[in-house]
Amino acid sequence: MWLQAPWLSALALLLPCSFGTPNQDRIFKYRSYRETHSFFEQLQEKYPNLVELWYAQDIFPEILPRKITWGTCEGEPCKTLIVRIANKRLLTNSTPEVFFSGALHGDERLGPATVTELASFLCEEYGVDTQVRRLVDFRATWIMPMTNAFGYAAHRREENSMDPNRDFPYLHTRPERCMQTQTARAVNELFRRHLFQFMITFHGGMRALTYEWGSRNHMTMPQRRSTEPPDETAFREVGQAIQAAAGKTLHRRWFYPLGRINDLVYPVEGGMEDWSYAAGWEKSPTPITVCKPNTYGGYAEERTKYRRDSISTLVYLAEMDNYKTAPDNSLGHRLEIWSPSATNGHIARNLRMCLKTIEMTRPEVVVLPPSMPSSAGDGATSLSVQIYGFGCHQMTARLVAVPSSVVPGCLVGEDGGDLEQEQFQQILQKSVKMDATEGHCRGLSLWNASTPPPRVLQGAVPTGEEVCVLIAAEFDQQWARQTRPDPLVTPRSHAARGRLEERYQVKANDGPMMIKARRTKLFAVGGPIRLEATSATTMTAKDTVDQPALAISEETTMATSDPHTSLGSSIWQQARLVPTTTFVNLHPRPEEPEDVTYAQDFFSIAAISFALSIAVGCAMLLRNRQEVAIKANVKDAQTRSELAEMVGKDPI
Ligand SMILES: [Zn+2]
Repeated sequence: MWLQAPWLSALALLLPCSFGTPNQDRIFKYRSYRETHSFFEQLQEKYPNLVELWYAQDIFPEILPRKITWGTCEGEPCKTLIVRIANKRLLTNSTPEVFFSGALHGDERLGPATVTELASFLCEEYGVDTQVRRLVDFRATWIMPMTNAFGYAAHRREENSMDPNRDFPYLHTRPERCMQTQTARAVNELFRRHLFQFMITFHGGMRALTYEWGSRNHMTMPQRRSTEPPDETAFREVGQAIQAAAGKTLHRRWFYPLGRINDLVYPVEGGMEDWSYAAGWEKSPTPITVCKPNTYGGYAEERTKYRRDSISTLVYLAEMDNYKTAPDNSLGHRLEIWSPSATNGHIARNLRMCLKTIEMTRPEVVVLPPSMPSSAGDGATSLSVQIYGFGCHQMTARLVAVPSSVVPGCLVGEDGGDLEQEQFQQILQKSVKMDATEGHCRGLSLWNASTPPPRVLQGAVPTGEEVCVLIAAEFDQQWARQTRPDPLVTPRSHAARGRLEERYQVKANDGPMMIKARRTKLFAVGGPIRLEATSATTMTAKDTVDQPALAISEETTMATSDPHTSLGSSIWQQARLVPTTTFVNLHPRPEEPEDVTYAQDFFSIAAISFALSIAVGCAMLLRNRQEVAIKANVKDAQTRSELAEMVGKDPI
């Protein structure tokens, strides 16, 4: 049994501010069914732009056609709560999505406690931490805190004596024996409308972090070992990353043994895991069953017929503790999230796993400011860019220059996935390589004691024409590796195909959600620039303020009397720039106009020497940033209004 020494809590409270926000520390606790509902209602009230709540029985009328009372939860009709944490203003119909299930079995209560605190953490840290902000701005986190609402309220494994994790359309021989529960139908409807790249389903009763396969049809005989899923490399790599995020035991072993469900847990029929991984690509009606249940007024069999490639999630089953409901004093407290340790409570450990999973939902290159062209004084002009990989394990990145006529405004969208094929090909054909790098992605560093420095890409900028500087990157190409995949197909998951295939486009079964991905992803370094090859190098940069910017530009005019040049070590002096140089800030994201904290945090990442050299200009820069952000948000609202309307009509 895990016991928490009181002095550990006291000690943690004395940790320095850099470990988070001490004023937000609190001891974690379990919440009842009703307390969980009101917790989320309050969270939504406090963070209306980040939190959205729905009840499955209201928005998916097909799961309860006769609108009967299907269960009583703490004295009221049971409702299955669905939560989305995302920046509503930035959502599109291709925002990458991730899913967390709190408790498919109602008496396994660590999951609900974890995902409830996850939602709270994302909201509270949004305005404080740049990395958390990235998770909320450009990924959508879906949570069903009490997936089995009836079971959770009643402290029972099952829903009205039916086991939800035997109720999914996988390997059932009797079609009336699947999709019997409100729990499974609610999950099914959510998955019909969304394209989840990753998910964790939380359980309890043993300790293991597991992935596919988890059913008899994917076992070797007579050894009864799991066969290899086509996405084995992705499953294992991401599994190792979230295993590391969870941390170690006092015996210095990983807290979670990692392996396949069949090997570490046991095979089941009708499990959510196999269904959520394979419903979009394995054969139907076997193993993907077409269900015809009779419970609760029935459920149309069309609801278990799926569009090709629509449901292909990389799913992890976390068995969190030998106790289905671990002792209250084993949950730990909030500050532990920042400091992995064998003495961590359950919530911090599992919350870090969730954060790492959210990160992996979108592979991207993060470009750090400052980066601006600098002249060596001999006519050559080079650009230096600091980058790191986020949401990936391995990255190959090239710094390229492309004529801006091919990429008007240097706008490539989130990662180039939206571009028309012809334009994308032109960009690749006309790009001039300036520099390249490859290696490990840095990823989330919220709780890492030492963070690897960013990679530096540096290269000569072509002169005499207006160009866009872009990063062209590929991620996790090793995920194509297979040994003996069962069945014999290439990786099937959205996460792998979006990284590996030259072009990967897929639509959800219902509603507007889609994935538009390419193997080579593009990230804008800034707005268009034009460099003149003269003896006194002149540089101009186009103001991209009026563009609905991915790259928000910020201008700073260097005057001859600029105080920076008085600094002996100033890169400006070394570069001998002409006085009226305009440079483009490289922040690739629209920002909240009111959020000065973020801006400060953001700049702290940049080279300290540069930060000092522009100290005098900072006030002007921030004011300018706010103006730019306001314009960008207005523009953003306009360009996204159609989508918002579309998504709003059929939210999930
Ligand atoms: Zn369970």
